[in-house]
Parts: sequence; structure tokens; C-alpha cells
Amino acid sequence: MTRAPLATSFDGLEVWFLTGSQQLYGPETLATVAAQSQRIAQLLDAADEVPVRVVWKPVLTEAGAITRLIREANADDRVIGLIAWMHTFSPAKMWIAGLDALRKPLAHLHTQANVELPWADIDFDFMNLNQAAHGDREFGYVQTRVGIPRKTIVGHASDPRVQRELGVWQRAAAALAASRTLKVARFGDNMRFVAVTEGDKTEAELRFGVQVNTWGVNDLAAAVAAVPGDEVTALVAEYEELYDVVPELRRGGERHRSLRDGAAIELGLRAFLEEGGFGAFTTSFEDLGALPQLPGLAVQRLMAEGYGFGAEGDWKTAILVRLAAVMGAGLPGGASLMEDYTYDLTPGEELILGAHMLEVSPALTTARPTLEIHPLGIGGKDDPVRLVFTADPGPAVVVALTDLRDRFRLTANVVENVPPRAALPHLPVGRAVWRPQPDFPTSAAAWLIAGAAHHTVMSTAVGVEVFRDFAEMVGVELLVIDADTRLPDFQRQVRWNQAYHRLAQGL
Ligand code: MN
Repeated sequence: MTRAPLATSFDGLEVWFLTGSQQLYGPETLATVAAQSQRIAQLLDAADEVPVRVVWKPVLTEAGAITRLIREANADDRVIGLIAWMHTFSPAKMWIAGLDALRKPLAHLHTQANVELPWADIDFDFMNLNQAAHGDREFGYVQTRVGIPRKTIVGHASDPRVQRELGVWQRAAAALAASRTLKVARFGDNMRFVAVTEGDKTEAELRFGVQVNTWGVNDLAAAVAAVPGDEVTALVAEYEELYDVVPELRRGGERHRSLRDGAAIELGLRAFLEEGGFGAFTTSFEDLGALPQLPGLAVQRLMAEGYGFGAEGDWKTAILVRLAAVMGAGLPGGASLMEDYTYDLTPGEELILGAHMLEVSPALTTARPTLEIHPLGIGGKDDPVRLVFTADPGPAVVVALTDLRDRFRLTANVVENVPPRAALPHLPVGRAVWRPQPDFPTSAAAWLIAGAAHHTVMSTAVGVEVFRDFAEMVGVELLVIDADTRLPDFQRQVRWNQAYHRLAQGL
């Protein structure tokens, strides 16, 4: 079976490494600046935690060259961001026009060529060459003055913390690049009467670059009906290899027909998404047209490949699931639609049980899922097939995107996935059980005060820092609920943010 997989990797992407200096120092010093900055760029490029290629660019010493290079970066689809370092004292007025034209994320790397000072040998030539300590302060002033959103990373390029911070920023920048080219296909509208899944799709396109449009569910049903029988047979064989398929669904089993329907839905959906260049989609159980069952297995498998998905027409969560998949490219774990479903309220030991009707990604588990069929009380269609598993224990983050009328808000909670307290033999869906930070009462109260959604993306591949960097890049509010959250401070932050974000957007 030939498939064009959705790109969920950093292959072909670049981050350009820009070094600032000036002509005052003469060609010999500038040659040293060039050699040292090349070494820094190479060090970062070679680091395991820096997943996107770092490409060194010749040292910049005047305004015209800076502006030309930044315009070149803006126009080059491979370039997802820029790193800037002022090796020597680079008078920063020369950066004003370039920074004003900048349309890509910026990381300000505050570093220097040497780790230790050569205390015994230091002379004034050394001082003149190695003065990022104030060159970068001059650059910081101009970035702040121009109003440039950026990540500031401080330390030597060989420091694993610095490499990690740069890698996190690259992951956010890659997500932004993916966001700016993302097309979301909606099959059906939002679930009737639900508020939080609504939102301004035009604003989303301006803010995130995402195109969100609707397609007739019967166009999808037609694509499903057109899938050749031999392709269905081959995919069913793949299921039997990958999963513990319950006997009733296996070849010869009495409900095998339902598994074939599920496979046809996957193949038809995949063909539709590939043909339209979609990286995310939504479904609606209230609007399934001629589809034989609510897509469950198909959605689970497509999410595990990196497609974004939102249930009940929730295009905002579909965007988040896709972006989290890009952020986590190459890392263990994955990203999935998640829904806070029900609680264990044992005082002091509270847990959240998250799941959905069907659509939780098996990327959250390293165990072998079972492939089962069970009745679904809503939707009025045939019983849907689905993968059943429990998310692996370990650190995770849940993130929601809500529309507050005048802007979007991201809300993130740092959580720990834990094993269920007991086996769940009667729960027929993929699920996760987690303990939220800082504790359940604070987390849930903060989430409710934030007006954050019941749908989230859960990522077990990346932490909250990638979302922090992403929010900074797109200028969207991010409320974080983590080990440091105290409710009174959080309430004040929500109140102050209302004022800040309205002012920051202008009138
Ligand atoms: Mn839901």
C-alpha cells in the first residue's frame, strides 16, 4: 500500500545563525569573530537536543546586509527561525530596519566564545574581542524598543541547558511553521449547543495562519465507499498484526464486517486528507451522513501519525493536536485529543480519568492496544471499532485553546500520568489517568477560572516550555498551571491579563 505520510519531522528545516559585529575592529578581528561564531553554530547544530539544522551565516556589520538577510529568511520556507548573537559590540541601530521586517521567530543567544576567562593572560585585545556581555545588552535594548517577541537564551553553547532551551524553541518554531501552512477539514459543524468549541476561524487564520474550512461529510462517505475491497483486506491484515483483535472482529468472526467498515473509513479518510493537503480534521457524531459508523479506529491511527483531530467539530483542539505532534517530532510519546471525563475524588489522592467516546491516540502507549467493538449510545450508527489501551505513566501536559471573543487563550496544566488504581475491564476506550500539578483542587479551580475547555491536547512527548515559546511567538496568552501555581496569584494573573492582552492588541 503506498502512502504519502504527513510530514511530522524536521527534515529540510533550518534555523539561521546570525552574528553581529561592526567594521570598527578591522578585518583580522572580524575573521576571528567569523571563526568563533562558526564554531558556536557547529556546536549547537551537532547537539542531540537541537533537532533542527543550525546554518551559520557570514558576520553582519551593517544595516543593509542585516535587512537583506532577514528579508531572505522571511521568504525562505525552509527557515523556521533565526538565532542572533552579538559577538562584539554591535551598535544596534543597524538592526532596527531588519528586526522591524522580521516575520520569523527569533532566539537571542547570549553567549561568548570562551567558557572560562583566561585570568592570567587577559589583556585589552581579549576584552575587545569578547564583549557580548554588553553587545547583547545593546541588542536587547533595540529588540525591546522595536517590540520583538523572542526567546532569550543565556549561557555557553556547550552547556546542555542552553542546548535544551534552544531545542525547545526550535520545536515551537517548527510548530509555528506547520501552523502557517495547516489546513483543517471540518466534517460537520460543532456539537449542538456546545459553547467552548466555537470560535473565530477568521481570527485563527490571521493569528496562527491555519485555514479552517468545512467539507460535506458525504464527500467523505463517498471516498470511503470508493475504497477497493483488496485495500480493505490488506489493512485488516495490518490490524491483526499490530493489535490484539477481539475474535468477533477477526476474519471469520461474526462482526468482521464492522472491522472492514472501520478499515474503509481509515482508507477513505486518509485519501481525502492527502488529496486536500489537510493536516487536521474534525468530525461530528451528529452529522455522519452515509458513514456506516463514527470514525474511531481511523481517527486514532491518523492522530498517531501526526494528524490533528478534534471531536464534535472542535477545530481549535484539532489545531493543537497537530501542533503538539510537530513539537514532539522524533521524541518518545505522542499527542492526542483528550477530554477530562471523570474523577477519583479520594481526598488528597485525587486523580483525573481522561478519555473520549473513541478518539484517543495510541501514541500515548507503548503497550499493544486491543481492537474491540462496543455499542455507542449516541450517533445512531453501527457500533464503532476502536483501540483500547491506557496511556503510559510519566510526565505529560494538557493544553486547551479557547476563544474569549477578543482573543485566544491557551491554558496548560502540567500533569503526571499514573497507572489506574485497578484494572478497567469494562471501560471500552483508550484512556489516561493523571495527577495534575500542583494538586487537584488548585488545578481544577484554576482551569475553571481560566474558562479553559474540556477538550485538550495531551502531549507525553513535550513539556509546557514548548507551548510557552509558541505562545510568545504568536502573541497569544498562555496560562500555566504547574507546581508553582497558587490560586490567588492565578486569579490576579487572569484579571491582569485581560487588561494586558487588550492593550497589547491595540484598538
Ligand atoms: Mn468531546
